[in-house]
Amino acid sequence: MSRACLTIDLDALAHNYGVVRTAAGGAEISPVVKADGYGLGAGPIARRLWREGAHSYFVARLEEGEALREELGGLEADILVLDGFQPGEEERIDAAGLTPVLNTLEQARAYRGSGAVLHFDTGMNRIGLAVDEAASVIELGLPVRLVISHLSAAVDPGHPRNGRQLARFESVRRLFPGARASLAASAGIWLGEDYRFDLVRPGISLFGGGPREVPDPTLRAVARLEAPVLQVRDLSAGDSVGYGDMFTAPHEMRIAVLGAGYADGMLRRGAGRTQAWLNGAAVPILAVTMDLIAIDITSQPEPRHGQMAELLGPNILLDDLAAAVETAPHECLTRLSTRAQRVYAERSAILL
Ligand SMILES: *Cc1c(COP(=O)(O)O)cnc(C)c1O
Repeated sequence: MSRACLTIDLDALAHNYGVVRTAAGGAEISPVVKADGYGLGAGPIARRLWREGAHSYFVARLEEGEALREELGGLEADILVLDGFQPGEEERIDAAGLTPVLNTLEQARAYRGSGAVLHFDTGMNRIGLAVDEAASVIELGLPVRLVISHLSAAVDPGHPRNGRQLARFESVRRLFPGARASLAASAGIWLGEDYRFDLVRPGISLFGGGPREVPDPTLRAVARLEAPVLQVRDLSAGDSVGYGDMFTAPHEMRIAVLGAGYADGMLRRGAGRTQAWLNGAAVPILAVTMDLIAIDITSQPEPRHGQMAELLGPNILLDDLAAAVETAPHECLTRLSTRAQRVYAERSAILL
């Protein structure tokens, strides 16, 4: 057994949903399960969140919406597609019962459904209608049910752009008095009541990422990646590990080689900056190659062959790992590949 194991803790997911629900006040929670549920499996994630009370979900791509509809079987979930739709995709949108988020005037003009969702850009400058296109949208007389926008600096509560985006969003949503409103993703939920409106769209916080991209002790790790010890070896001073000069031992050392690598989603640049968790202690990661990772166990008890070391999870926290390799926790999760064996863990055996 040399394969890494990715355990997806659905009870931790449910716990995080509860934390988000409390933080969201009375706002509806629409989990974001794009990119196959941040790499953790949109189907099992969405089904568990349904049992916790979620009834609407966001995905990014049409294909993700189609796959999620299939996964949800007979559940009458509202599935919103952030990309909207392109000419010719109307039939697929209808066939899967998806709600496109309308990002352009062309999409708004082509829309024939009974509950339009509009996305206005208020300062992110990615996709979305411009605020000054609102008048043209109003002329179309669409039955608008939800108006959304997205914050670009919500992880930093002191950033002046938050207030500017909020003011712009308030002015545009007032033009659609019958519609509900949504501005906050995970981080925005914690910016305060003003930012929460009728519906919030958390993604990363449901998976244990803190709203400030630093660990939040109230949230639990949902993804746990573990890899087995394949070999233990002793190094003399000057011995190198891995390719080229990835790591050179400054003195006598003992290392353990783990069966995971960058093909399992661990970043190569994590060498020298990140840690693994073994026998109740954090140990330095010295080298990361495609299939193998070397860790320093010089001052650790001898591990058993096959013993699992944690590379991400309740001890090696997502936000710490992301910060150490200078990326977003979202990127760390969505990189987890399908090579590791996947296990969905939950206490209750009742599965939908
Ligand atoms: C990805 C995304 C979200 C979720 O963001 P998190 O930071 O993971 O909570 C919400 N809204 C939109 C428009 C998004 O693109």
